[in-house]
Amino acid sequence: MSKPNTVSQALGEIEKAYATILSKLPLTNEGTESTPKRAAKALVELTQGYFTTPCEKIGEGIFPHDGSGVVHVKGLEICSLCEHHLLPFIGNCSITYIPDKKMLGLSKLKRISDIFARRLQVQERLTEQIADAIEKAIQPKGVLVVIRSVHLCMKMRGVCEKDPETCTVVRKGEFANNQLLTMQYMAESQHTPKL
Ligand SMILES: [Zn+2]
Repeated sequence: MSKPNTVSQALGEIEKAYATILSKLPLTNEGTESTPKRAAKALVELTQGYFTTPCEKIGEGIFPHDGSGVVHVKGLEICSLCEHHLLPFIGNCSITYIPDKKMLGLSKLKRISDIFARRLQVQERLTEQIADAIEKAIQPKGVLVVIRSVHLCMKMRGVCEKDPETCTVVRKGEFANNQLLTMQYMAESQHTPKL
């Protein structure tokens, strides 16, 4: 089957496919009449990262930077779908970079992480892709991306008893060579949710 290249084309085809899936289950209630349509809409929403690129989202969000500091943003929410089971993994991401004459608007960091999170993913690749996109956009002296999340495919399928946290780390440039700097921002990256 050819790949749909527009959202509306994708919606119609996914809806039909969901109807087929549901017809194979011994359902006993009647509240699922509109489920294929709703589920298709939800899936397209959760995979909207396929319909855009970091370049489009970053747009005008690159600015000159003269200082010698570090940019560190933590607690960026990650909601993604694992590509193996189509079940969510949910957590947070911290991004740290050392600018080299250029910096990104802070909201762009969230946009970049969302583009890649809103695709079918494995957490390891998601972490790499976020770091790569930042490197490509502003060529910083170093980037550190840390994602901590809970995978529902582990939690709901009886593989694990509690909430196992998966942590993935990607270090580039100065972070790849400087263990102390990495450890400092790894510690900083622990997100404490506000009440
Ligand atoms: Zn999975």
